[in-house]
Amino acid sequence: MELAGQKALVTGGSRGIGRGIALELARRGADIVINYNSNSTAADEVVAEIEKLGRKAVALQADVSDFAAAGALVKGAVDALGGLTILVNNAGVTRDKLLMAMKEDDWTTVVQTNLGGTYNVTQQAIRSLLRNRDTGARVVNITSVSGLVGVPGQANYSAAKAGIIGFTKATAKELAKRQILINAVAPGFIQTDMTDAMPQAMLDEMLKMVPCARIGEVDDISQAVAFLCGPGASYITGQVLVVDGGLTM
Ligand code: NAP
Repeated sequence: MELAGQKALVTGGSRGIGRGIALELARRGADIVINYNSNSTAADEVVAEIEKLGRKAVALQADVSDFAAAGALVKGAVDALGGLTILVNNAGVTRDKLLMAMKEDDWTTVVQTNLGGTYNVTQQAIRSLLRNRDTGARVVNITSVSGLVGVPGQANYSAAKAGIIGFTKATAKELAKRQILINAVAPGFIQTDMTDAMPQAMLDEMLKMVPCARIGEVDDISQAVAFLCGPGASYITGQVLVVDGGLTM
């Protein structure tokens, strides 16, 4: 198994894309800490599924938008797994509104969870990731096509996800010599609770723009993330892998 012996922290691993990533990394041999914010039942179910695969799994609650909570999460993950070799910054939220109606709280929550959370966790995980001197470590940040092209009604989310791309490239340049490879994955429309919350008419309109003519599945993203965490991606850093059925090409 290509990720045997790896120790991964997946933020927002209780549902949707994060759940799929946690399961795929476990299938490939990694032990996993999944983080969640409020839904402990969903998190416990993912832990049970990973344990069925014969891997170690622990669920840790933390709001990644809070620097101190993110620090406690990283410490808890390192203690639970005996180190950290993979970090997937996946936790994210949307609060879609046109700018005229966008309240300060809509802006702050989305930027502080998506972009702030990525900084909060990565900054406090770096020392542990650097301890893997010989084998190196991987970080994958989940951004969005919204951060590449800009989406009306998502000024907060587009800004946060574009920020994650800048953060990915800057940190990849800082840490490549220290064997930490940092990339981003940009999903298009993927079937999860997040897209279930969108009006069907809006989804239908958007699907007309997807050359592959289908909504993406969680597995489309988890396979891309697992590839970036594996041996086949050992010369890839600072990249944004777009997984969107051709939407933004
Ligand atoms: P989702 O189904 O809504 O799941 C979100 C996950 O993030 C849940 O596990 C949730 O935990 C966790 N979370 C939310 N806020 C958090 C916080 N403050 N601290 C810690 N965990 C938190 O979302 P998804 O569709 O899987 O999206 C996952 C990632 O992919 C996000 O970064 C999203 O922006 C990105 N993305 C999604 C799509 C898409 O079409 N779905 C497209 C592009 C990018 P609880 O269960 O405890 O709430």
